[in-house]
Amino acid sequence: MPTESGVRAVTSDALGQAAWSARENARVIGPTKVGVAVAGADGEIITGCNMEHRYRSHDVHGEVSAIAAYVASGRRDLKTVFVAAERDHFTPCGACLDWIFEIGGPDTEVLVQSSRDGQVTRYLAADLMPHYPR
Ligand SMILES: [Zn+2]
Repeated sequence: MPTESGVRAVTSDALGQAAWSARENARVIGPTKVGVAVAGADGEIITGCNMEHRYRSHDVHGEVSAIAAYVASGRRDLKTVFVAAERDHFTPCGACLDWIFEIGGPDTEVLVQSSRDGQVTRYLAADLMPHYPR
C-alpha cells in the first residue's frame, strides 16, 4: 500500500506469511526450521531460511540467509526482520544480530512468532543487544 511519501508500507501479516512460507524450504538436520522475511523502505519482502550442513560449523541461519538475499538484491536499508520458528522465545542469535546491526542498525524492528497464528512479539535490535558497540 503506497503512502504519501511513495514508500510502500509492509504489514507484519505479509511478512509473517512470507516467513512461514520460506520456513517450509528450511534444510535442517536438527529440529528447528526457521523462516525469515525481511524488508526495507521500498516494502519489497525478501525471504530466507536456515540451511544446516553435516559439518555444523557451516550452518547458515535463516536471518543471515534472508539478509544475504536482501543485500544481493541491491538493497541496504534494512528496516524489519520477521522470524518464524516453532520455538518459544526464539530470537536471533548474536551472529545474526551482528548482521542485523550491520545492515539495518539498532532501530531495526525484529518480529518473532512461534506459530502461524500465534502472537507476534516486537523488539528493536537494540532491545535484544542493548550494549552493542556503536
Ligand atoms: Zn543466528
